Amino acid sequence: MHFCIVGAGFSGAVTARHLADRGHDITVLDERPHSGGNCHTVRDPRTGIMLHQYGPHIFHTAQKHVWQYVQRFGRFAPYINRVKAVSQGRLYTLPITLLTINQFFGRTMSPAEARAFIRQQAVQTITEPRNFEEQALHMIGPALYEAFFRGYTTKQWGLPPSALPASILRRLPVRFNYDDNYFSHPYQGIPVDGYTALTDSILDHPRISVHLGTSFEDFQTWGQTDHVLYTGPLDRYFRFCHGRLGYRTLDFERIDAEGDHQGTAVINYCDEAIPYTRITEHKHFAPWEASRFNRTVCFREYSRLAGPDDAPYYPIRLATETAMLDRYIRTAMTTEKVSFLGRLGTYRYLDMDVTISEALRACQIMDDHLALKKPF
Ligand code: FAD
Ligand code: UDP
Repeated sequence: MHFCIVGAGFSGAVTARHLADRGHDITVLDERPHSGGNCHTVRDPRTGIMLHQYGPHIFHTAQKHVWQYVQRFGRFAPYINRVKAVSQGRLYTLPITLLTINQFFGRTMSPAEARAFIRQQAVQTITEPRNFEEQALHMIGPALYEAFFRGYTTKQWGLPPSALPASILRRLPVRFNYDDNYFSHPYQGIPVDGYTALTDSILDHPRISVHLGTSFEDFQTWGQTDHVLYTGPLDRYFRFCHGRLGYRTLDFERIDAEGDHQGTAVINYCDEAIPYTRITEHKHFAPWEASRFNRTVCFREYSRLAGPDDAPYYPIRLATETAMLDRYIRTAMTTEKVSFLGRLGTYRYLDMDVTISEALRACQIMDDHLALKKPF
């Protein structure tokens, strides 16, 4: 069979490779001039520093098979994300750990003392948090919420935290020890040659032909296929017939400097008065080579509502979007010879490891259908 796969991010690359390994012929399209999707990395022509062009990406997973899968295509160096956060002119560590709590309240509490102290801070009247704000007040109380979450979240999502789902905050742990690892997964790292080398290597197969700088809309005028796997935006496939699904987009303001600008990879700016959410310094995402560079490149990150011509980053998924999404899903279910996959194709925030495991799972389902000669 011939498959056309739209998008050369992890969703597209992983499915392309699997189907090619099974003997199918694959055309992969991406309208961008590179593979890797939003995980794309590129060596800066001016400094040689590896830049995460669409925002910093750290690979972390608890799924051993996904970790083993990515190791097949590139070498990973260990990397632990240790985020710092500025609030009201003072610097702390994030996620909230015993160090954050002791520094913020000017105390020297033990884990048990801090646990009891935070329990007292928490708003007892909230038993079942209905939104982000209630979740934060219930978990850590008003002082830490105000200092680290209210302003940042308002900037990141363009909405008051009371209008956002509680699940967004549950992505972050609160720890009563000094473990400042941003993630809790056992496998964490960054590919030594960058993410784009990794997706290029996944796509490197004689049965896969990759067409960069080519949109699906272009392909429809010259290409023919038995089945389309579409990892672009779901609403765009259907020419926005039910309306536009809402996304946040990011703007990056580049800072070039000598030496070391901030001494670490990520500093979040939690106060609402500061318009950007964070500054990332890219050579610190590659500590194995950072000392080679005399210069440095940082990105100041600003979040805003995506317009029709902006790159979609974070799906908003409020009530209006989920109702629209349901209509798109119903339309997709009745459309033949196309399957939707990935963070844009299914309009969900997905980490890289979940993206890869979902792509591998989709391949299994396709294998089963192809073996039974059933359409999918
Ligand atoms: P994408 O990477 O978006 O790939 C889709 C591709 O399809 C794009 O290249 C696009 O150009 C192409 N395309 C779309 N429409 C068309 C069309 N009509 N024709 C041709 N091509 C088209 N995950 C982590 O695990 N760790 C992190 O630290 C992390 N950090 C992140 C930081 C930010 C700022 C963001 C937004 C996400 C982050 N993620 C992180 C999530 C990660 O980016 C996603 O898991 C991953 O990109 C999903 O891959 P995908 O292939 O589904 O989609
Ligand atoms: N968040 C915050 N302050 C911070 C870091 C995160 O308020 O300094 C909130 C913000 O709403 C964010 C959410 O916690 O969307 C989850 O954090 P994560 O690091 O997963 O952020 P994302 O992946 O959304 O950038």
